[in-house]
Amino acid sequence: PLRDDDSHYFQSYGENDIHAVMIQDKARTATYAQFIQSNPELFHDAVVLDVGCGTGILSLFAARAGARRVIAVDASPIAEKAQQIVKDNGLENVITVVRARVEDMMLPDGIEPGDVDVIVSEWMGYGLLYESMLDSVLHARDRFLRKDGGVMAPSQCRMQLCLCEGGEIFKERIGFWSDVYGFDLSAMGKDVYDDAIVDVVGPETILSEPCTVKDLHLATITPKQLDFSAPFTLTSSSLQRTKAHALALYFDAFFTADGAPVSPDTHVHVVREGDPVLAEVWPLGGRPHTGRRMSSGQGLKEGESAKRKMTSFSTGPESVPTHWKQTIFLLREPITVCEGTVVQGTFKCRKSSDNSRELDVEIHYTVKDPDVEEAPSQVVVQLF
Ligand code: SAH
Repeated sequence: PLRDDDSHYFQSYGENDIHAVMIQDKARTATYAQFIQSNPELFHDAVVLDVGCGTGILSLFAARAGARRVIAVDASPIAEKAQQIVKDNGLENVITVVRARVEDMMLPDGIEPGDVDVIVSEWMGYGLLYESMLDSVLHARDRFLRKDGGVMAPSQCRMQLCLCEGGEIFKERIGFWSDVYGFDLSAMGKDVYDDAIVDVVGPETILSEPCTVKDLHLATITPKQLDFSAPFTLTSSSLQRTKAHALALYFDAFFTADGAPVSPDTHVHVVREGDPVLAEVWPLGGRPHTGRRMSSGQGLKEGESAKRKMTSFSTGPESVPTHWKQTIFLLREPITVCEGTVVQGTFKCRKSSDNSRELDVEIHYTVKDPDVEEAPSQVVVQLF
């Protein structure tokens, strides 16, 4: 169905700045580059569909990796730039740019539905699902991807929730209103709780291990499953008694050449400041070195053989900040936590009824602390 809010959506992707921000996000762009350019068995001679090509950067990587044919589709005016860029790089014989919504697109001559070996797409929004672009990618998958062995890149994404100290964010967004030149302006801060906040929180603010609230396998997930409700349990690891002002949401993305699922205990590759990973794959000149364990974004599970190559990046507080930052849900009542405090609840996420590119997130929780009596609480938030 046509979405009434889409013309603005595609227009916004016509701006230069948004593409500069995405391309300069190294954890993002270098991970795609490294996956595409270090899996020749997947990309050599392949037919590749780049859903939402933007400037065409992922298509260029695929062409460099030896793809036979790349179809780059985007409904935004940026597609005109992509066309020019393909020409400027002498790749018109490999990359075909189509300006259309992928839902409406006609395949170029010589390509039939079911011919596509790999779909590459960077569809991820804040907190993963904001923007709801994934629906379009799944539509393309069902229509065009080869049924036997077609691969989605990324192949898996996990939404992670954790306890967050969040005092800084609370002060910046709400606390400071209560004393402005000696006046009480706290009425200004009241609505801040209604919306999720996209901001970077440091690793030192995280008070629990993350809990996976959604583990999406791109090969099989359906649009219906993107509206979901999931239980969570967060156990505080804070040694001192402190206040958790927020819950933080972020996502990890995994790329596997065979599309095989990574197990729940596989850790994502965490990119830290000064990590050689990014320097190694940038600038690009053919295949990056992947010899060293845990370099170049190659995460390997303990004991897993190097045969099952897996590339990943995280948008979590432990990693170098990405343009997705983290998604912060401020709590009206901060939770007092000490080591072992358990926050248990349900995380609900669905497309907003007013605007299908926005999300309604509802988090219900109770706190179990051996020492503190705390009434069950609940928070209802809307993401944008
Ligand atoms: N692949 C580029 C751009 C990613 S941003 C990069 O990695 O840098 C996502 C792009 O997808 C935007 O340019 C947007 O216009 C496009 N897009 C979103 N939904 C789409 C749809 N249904 N059909 C075609 N293009 C779409």
